[in-house]
Amino acid sequence: MVIIKTAAHLQSFLQDQRRSSAPIGFVPTMGALHQGHISLIINAKESSKLVVSSIFVNPTQFNDPADFEKYPQTLTQDIDLLTQTGCDVLFLPSVAEMYPEGIQGGLQYELGFIETVYDGHFRPGHFQGVCRVVEKLLRLVEPDLLYLGQKDYQQCMVIRKMCELRQIPVTIRICATQREVDGLAMSSRNLRLNTEERRLAPQLYRIMQETASKLKSGSLQPLTENAREELSRIGFKPDYFEFADAGTLTPVTHWNGSDPLVLLAAAFLGAIRLIDNLIPEISDPASGLL
Ligand code: AMP
Repeated sequence: MVIIKTAAHLQSFLQDQRRSSAPIGFVPTMGALHQGHISLIINAKESSKLVVSSIFVNPTQFNDPADFEKYPQTLTQDIDLLTQTGCDVLFLPSVAEMYPEGIQGGLQYELGFIETVYDGHFRPGHFQGVCRVVEKLLRLVEPDLLYLGQKDYQQCMVIRKMCELRQIPVTIRICATQREVDGLAMSSRNLRLNTEERRLAPQLYRIMQETASKLKSGSLQPLTENAREELSRIGFKPDYFEFADAGTLTPVTHWNGSDPLVLLAAAFLGAIRLIDNLIPEISDPASGLL
């Protein structure tokens, strides 16, 4: 695996490769890699001739400075994992390399409604930072295929919208959420859970599954209220636990029994914020994001 630290080197390297190595698949990450990330690399390898990954803990997408400071870093292990999986190129830029103009300011993306709900509401500025870094990375790598995880459902929709707004010609492939055996969605932040929090963490997905299994047309509020209460009893502090339209993310509190839904949840366990989502089986995934 070739490790490249500067934008100029990455561009010249890829320029040489582009003719012989299309399609290029790209997997952006913030490191502390786990099997969720690795599944994206494996998917990318299936359809791409050259797989480029990046590790960059992006300061502009952290609304909470403590979360940025404490973001786990496991670079040596990450490089081993990527090498073993057959990733071809790792882009490992510094903050100065990614933001020569400084991290303040930058273009405002007109994301509209999607930025006002769920993580957009609870993490002000987060999706602007995500768009800013992903646009920069896409303009450097110019991949044919971009691999994203369903784990970050709203982020997938935001990035898709940003690519439309900025006319970036890339095909987005969304890959299934990888979970621990107890159901907890894999996440770099799981490394920061203490023993008791790690024991409780799988309850989030268990309650999501239980809630989805009780889904029927009519008001969905009793279901989601019960779920939030149960989470609070266990020790979570839920930010949101809601059904939304799978294609638009409009909250659905009263369901007609057929529109495609996604169940979106975010909750703190101590200082660690977990997010997860689930497409109820009753929904036809083809009509939503996936
Ligand atoms: P991150 O390093 O958290 O920014 O994630 C990088 C990419 O990996 C994003 O597209 C995430 O959605 C994806 N990802 C993170 N966790 C998982 C998971 N458990 N399963 C599948 N994809 C994931």
